[in-house]
Amino acid sequence: MMRFAVLIYLLGIVSLRGLEIELDYSLDTYGFFGETGSQERAALRAVADFYESILQDDLEPIDAEAFVGNVSWSARISHPGTGASYEIPNLVVPRDTLIVYAGGQPLASAGRGGAGGFRASGNQAWFDHIQARGETNPDGSPAHGEGALDFGPWGGQITFDTERTWNFSLTERREDGSWGSDFVPTALHELGHLLGLGSSSDSWQTHTDTSDPAAPVFRGPHAVASFGGPVPMQPSTYPSHWQDDGACVYPLGHDPDNGRNVLSLTLEQFGVPAGVEQIARMDPSSCATGTRLRVFTELDVAALQDVGWDIEMGSAPTRDLPVLNLDVLPDGARRLQWDAVPGARYQVESSRDLSQWTPLGTWLEANEATLHADDTSPSGIRLFYRLRQE
Ligand SMILES: [Zn+2]
Repeated sequence: MMRFAVLIYLLGIVSLRGLEIELDYSLDTYGFFGETGSQERAALRAVADFYESILQDDLEPIDAEAFVGNVSWSARISHPGTGASYEIPNLVVPRDTLIVYAGGQPLASAGRGGAGGFRASGNQAWFDHIQARGETNPDGSPAHGEGALDFGPWGGQITFDTERTWNFSLTERREDGSWGSDFVPTALHELGHLLGLGSSSDSWQTHTDTSDPAAPVFRGPHAVASFGGPVPMQPSTYPSHWQDDGACVYPLGHDPDNGRNVLSLTLEQFGVPAGVEQIARMDPSSCATGTRLRVFTELDVAALQDVGWDIEMGSAPTRDLPVLNLDVLPDGARRLQWDAVPGARYQVESSRDLSQWTPLGTWLEANEATLHADDTSPSGIRLFYRLRQE
C-alpha cells in the first residue's frame, strides 16, 4: 500500500501545521537521551507530537537581527544537565516554534520542567515581542503583565532523573513495575509545566485563588467547566499542581471515595482510549496501576486553554502515517524528518505546483527510529513536500 503525507512550505513558513516543538539535546551533558534514533528521543518526540497535534497558536519569530532597532537578548534556562542558570545569547526562535532544551541529571523527583526566561536590551516593543510573541490580551495589549491571559513563551527546559530505570514504552506499563518509572507520563507532565501549567507566569496565577492558603483553587473558566467547579490545588507558595489525591489503591490507582481526587477523562493517546476516568495528569504524584500509561486528561487540556493556548482537539494523534517535520538548516537547506515505522520504506518528493513531483534522493529503509532527507536546491517561493511510504 502506498500512502502520502503532504507538507506545504511557503515563503519559509510552515503552513499545514500548528505549532512546532523543536527538541534540542545540545545541553544534555549527561547523555540521558543518547544519540539520534534512541528510544529516549523517540519517546520524547512522541510526547511533543501529542502537544503539536492539539496546539494551534501562531507565535511570531524571535530574531534580534531581524527586529527594528538596536536590540539583543539572551534566553535563560535552568541548564538541563546541571540545574545551573544558563543563557543562550541571541537565540533565533522560528515562527510558530517552541525550543525545548532537554536533558537529564540526578534529581530528587522524576522530572522537572518550566518555561524559559530571558534578559534583553533594546526597547519596550522588543521586550513585549519576546515575552508575548504577538499574543495579545483582550484589550489588544501585549499578553503579559497584570491580568494577562495568553501565554506565548519562546520555549524552555525539561530534565529527567538519571538515577532511575525508565520505561520508554509508548503504549503500556508493566503492572509489576519491572520497567521502572514511566517516561511518557512524566514527559507529558513536565512539558505541561513548560507550557505554563503551574509555572509562575501571569497567565496561570491570574486564575489561581489563594485566599485560603490551605485550600487554593484554580478558577480558569475552561478548567472550571471541565471539572464542574473550582479545581482544588495542592497548597504551596505558588500552587502549581492539582490537589494530590495521596492514595494509591488498586485497581484504579485511586480510591473512588477519596474526597481529594481531581478526576477527569482521558484523551485518546499512547494506547489509552478516550473517556477513561483518571486522576488528572497535573496532579503532583498520581500513582500508576495496571498496564495503562497515565495520560493527559480533558481537565489538563482545559487548563492549557485557560493559560491562552488555542486547542484543536479534532486532530488526535495517530501514528499511522508519520508527520513530516521541516527544519531549515543554517546553510538554507530544508531538512525533512519523520518517525519511521519498522519495516517500511520511505521516499520524500518535492513539487512547485502539486502536480509534478520530483524524488529527493533514493528510497530509505526504516533502519532507525527517525529518518531524514535534505533538500539543498534553491528554495524559491513555494515548495511542497510529501512523504511516500511503502
Ligand atoms: Zn509538576
